[in-house]
Amino acid sequence: MQALLSVIRKIRAESATFGTSGNASARAGQAESFWITPSGVPWDAITATEMVELSVESGRQLTGHLAPSTEWRFHQGVYRAHDWAGGIVHLHSTYATVLSTINRAVQPVHYQMVRVADEVPVLPYATFGSAQLAKGIVEAISPQQRAVLLQNHGLVAVGETVEQAHQAALEVEWTAMIQYHASLLAAPRVLTGDELQAVREAFSRYGQPSQEH
Ligand code: 13P
Ligand code: ZN
Repeated sequence: MQALLSVIRKIRAESATFGTSGNASARAGQAESFWITPSGVPWDAITATEMVELSVESGRQLTGHLAPSTEWRFHQGVYRAHDWAGGIVHLHSTYATVLSTINRAVQPVHYQMVRVADEVPVLPYATFGSAQLAKGIVEAISPQQRAVLLQNHGLVAVGETVEQAHQAALEVEWTAMIQYHASLLAAPRVLTGDELQAVREAFSRYGQPSQEH
């Protein structure tokens, strides 16, 4: 819950969402339940008291005095179907949403997004909060496909933690922005399958070696 609160504050500070658009969740310690943002409450006004706890198995409300996000179905469905999923971020961020309106996937025009997915497809339009929207998201997500665009709506990113889901959302939004700007000049070059594989290998050795004593 603390991790979720700190992620939604960061997202607000990044101006990646506005008003009451978007929602986020994190699996609770025991993994049988998850915390989710309340519906229709501006993120500035959300403290621990406003968070809602739902059962992963049934979606039943366990804690909290407010109604959960209208998108609770896809959050619950993803946790129920995907053991590895520990956090989810849904945003109406500008560039991901722009591409979704023209039904254009976010392509690997830069290597930065490779740990999220090779490409982020657009799921067919469905009303926000609907079971149909949830079904599409739950089926599309996998360890190799950690984000999707929702047509005429926004993006969903999933991670092992909510911090990782936030990072994935930023990488998708940034890549969508690069693709958008490049496309104004000419058709951008897209990384090949072999190039993406080489980046995955390079990332597996990236950063500082762990300090083992
Ligand atoms: P909630 O305020 O119910 O989370 O809805 C916001 C949203 O983005 C719906 O898709
Ligand atoms: Zn939304």
